[in-house]
Amino acid sequence: MPDHDIIIIGGGLGGLVAGAKLAKEGKQVLLLEQHNIPGGCATTFTRNEFTMEVGLHEMDGIYDKTDPKQKIFKDLGVFEHIEFLKLPEFYRFKNNQIDIIIPDNVEQAIELLTKQFPAEEKGIKKFFHKIFAIRKEANRTFPLWCHRWKLDILIPIFPAIFPHLAFNTYATLGKYLDSIINNEDLKLILAANLGYYHDNPYSMSLIYFSVPQAGYYKGGAYIKGGSQKLSDYLAKVIKDNGGEVLLQHLVTGIIMKNNKAIGVNYKQNRKSAIEIKTINAKVIIANAAIPNVIDMLSEKKVQVNKFKKLQKACSLLTIYFGFNKEPKELGNKHYSTFVFDDNVKELKDMIVNFHGNFADRSYVFIDYSQIESGLAPFGKSVGAICTVDYLADWENLSYEEYKIKKNQVVKIFRDKLEQLIPGIDKEIEWCEVGTPKTIKRYTLNPHGTAYGYAQIPKQAGLFRTRIKSPVKGLYFASAWTNPGGGFTGAIMSGWLCANQVLGNQEI
Ligand SMILES: Cc1cc2nc3c(=O)[nH]c(=O)nc-3n(C[C@H](O)[C@H](O)[C@H](O)COP(=O)(O)OP(=O)(O)OC[C@H]3O[C@@H](n4cnc5c(N)ncnc54)[C@H](O)[C@@H]3O)c2cc1C
Repeated sequence: MPDHDIIIIGGGLGGLVAGAKLAKEGKQVLLLEQHNIPGGCATTFTRNEFTMEVGLHEMDGIYDKTDPKQKIFKDLGVFEHIEFLKLPEFYRFKNNQIDIIIPDNVEQAIELLTKQFPAEEKGIKKFFHKIFAIRKEANRTFPLWCHRWKLDILIPIFPAIFPHLAFNTYATLGKYLDSIINNEDLKLILAANLGYYHDNPYSMSLIYFSVPQAGYYKGGAYIKGGSQKLSDYLAKVIKDNGGEVLLQHLVTGIIMKNNKAIGVNYKQNRKSAIEIKTINAKVIIANAAIPNVIDMLSEKKVQVNKFKKLQKACSLLTIYFGFNKEPKELGNKHYSTFVFDDNVKELKDMIVNFHGNFADRSYVFIDYSQIESGLAPFGKSVGAICTVDYLADWENLSYEEYKIKKNQVVKIFRDKLEQLIPGIDKEIEWCEVGTPKTIKRYTLNPHGTAYGYAQIPKQAGLFRTRIKSPVKGLYFASAWTNPGGGFTGAIMSGWLCANQVLGNQEI
C-alpha cells in the first residue's frame, strides 16, 4: 500500500502549483524540497535590512483576462493573498545613440516607435499584430490542454484552427524581424529583453517570444514583498489541505517496478545526514530538472536518449544591490533599463556579446524603488543587474579563482551602474553576485539554467508537449516540460500536470 497519493520532487513554482491543485482536490501530497525554503528560482534572501529578489523582474499576463494564470490563480486563491504591483512601463532601451522608453501598452508603443522610425511603420504594425495573434491562439489552446486533449490528434486540422501557431512553428524571432524591418536599431529595441527567454534571436522561437512578450504589452507585474510570497503561499495551500512540505530533503533516486515509478529514495540535505529513506506513492511528480530525473531512475532500460539530445537554455548572472538611497532620488526614472554595449549593432551581435567579456556585456538594471516593492525599509532600496551568462564561464575555477572572478565582475558592473546613474556607487550598502553556479547550487538545474530546455523552435509549441515522462506513474512539472520556462511557463506546467494526474485516475 503506497504511503502517499503523490510525491513531488522539488518545490519550484511547477511543483508548488501542481501540489497546491492536487491537495485542494483532496489528494494526499508530500513535497520534498532540497533547499531550506520553497520556490526554486522564485525566492528571496535577506541581507542586512534588505530583501533581495533572486529572480523576478517582471511577470507577464496578470492584466490580461485571457491569460491562463487568471484561472489558475483564481482557483488557488492567489489573487486574495498575493498583491501584484503594476509596473510603470515595459522597459527603457539605452545604447550610445538611442534612449527610448517602451510603454507597456500596444497602441502607445506603436505610436512612439512609428514617430521614432517613420519609415518602418508597416513593419512595426506587422510585428505587434503578429505577436498578439500568436498570443491569442496560444491562450486558446490552454483549455484544450486542461481538458486533457492530446493536441497531437488535432494536427490535421491544427493549421485551420490555429494558423499563427501552425505557420510559425519553425520561425525564429531574428529571421522574422529581418523580414519585416530594415532598421537595425529598431530590431534591437523590439528584442531588447531577449534574455528573459533565450540568448540568440536567430534560434529564439518566435512563438515562445510572442506569447509572453504580447502579455507584457498589456502590463507587467511584480509581487509585493518578493516572489517568495507567492512560493510560501502555494506551500501553505498544500499544508492547509492536509499535505506535507518537507524542506531540506533531497531526493536521490526514483524507485521503479516494471517500468512504473512507485516511490523515491531521499535523505536530509545536510552534510552529516547519511540515512537514506524510502517512501512510496501512487504518483511521482518531478519538478526537479528532467536530465537529473532521468539519471535518478532505478531501471535504466527506459528510452532516455531523446532527452540527451535536447538543448539546454542559457543561464543568468545577477548582481544584487542594497542601496542606502532610492535610485530615483539620484534621477533614475525607470523600473527596468536595458543597456546595450556599443559592439551590439545588429541582432546577430547579441549572442556574441553574451559570450564576450563582462566589460562589454549588455545588461538590464532593475530599480525596485520605482514601485512600492516592500523589499527595503523606508528611504532605502534594492536593485539588480542581470545579464545572460553560462555555467562554463564559472564551473572549472578553483575556490580562489572563483572568488577573484566574482569580485572582478562586481567591480565591472558597479562601474557600469555608476555610469548609468552617477552618484549611485557610494549609496551601495550591500552588493553580492549570483552566478550560474549559484543557480545550479540552489536549484540543481544543469548548466545553472533558468529556463529548462532552450526555447528554440524544435523544442517549442507542439514539440514541447512531447517532452513528457517515459515512465508510467511519473509526471513532469517544471520549466523543462510543456509549455516552457519563466514564471508563467512553470506555473502552467504545474497546473497542466495536476490536471493530467487527476484525469489519469491512477489515484
Ligand atoms: C536570475 C533569474 C531571473 C529570472 N527572472 C524572471 C522574470 O523576471 N520573469 C519570469 O517569468 N521568469 C524569470 N526567471 C525564470 C523563472 O524564475 C524560472 O523559469 C521558473 O521559476 C522555474 O520554475 P521551476 O518550477 O522549473 O523550478 P525551479 O525554480 O528550477 O526549482 C526547482 C526546485 O526543485 C528543487 N530540487 C531539484 N532537485 C531536487 C531533488 N533531487 N530533491 C529535492 N528537491 C529538488 C530545487 O531545489 C528547486 O527548489 C528568472 C530566473 C532567474 C534564475
